[in-house]
Amino acid sequence: MTLDDHKKRLMALKAELLAEGDNAIEPAKDEGVVGKPDDDAQPLVEMNQVIASSRNRARTDELDRVMAALVRLDQEPDSFGECVECGEQIAPRRLQLMPYVELCVECQQARDRPRGPAGRRHLRDFR
Ligand SMILES: [Zn+2]
Repeated sequence: MTLDDHKKRLMALKAELLAEGDNAIEPAKDEGVVGKPDDDAQPLVEMNQVIASSRNRARTDELDRVMAALVRLDQEPDSFGECVECGEQIAPRRLQLMPYVELCVECQQARDRPRGPAGRRHLRDFR
């Protein structure tokens, strides 16, 4: 893959993520709730909103990474595709799947599974 290929993919991803955002803004009122809202439906609506907002957050995160990658590609094309942590070349296949990726597999794993107290605190955050 050339830098140009990566740029095209990033631009496409960006457009995709932005388009998805437009859809996500639509409220979940086309769920057949006509007339007076029944009480059983409320928790479901709230749950859907939570899911939508966490999806939205993931989408925004991804969009941020795509934008950052585009900036890196423009400003430092020479170091694009290198791990920001260790400077190693990121595996081409990984870069192909996620053109916005900043870390090599090793550094990503180290970051995802921190050892010690930091890791335990991270787990508790999900409860
Ligand atoms: Zn690395």
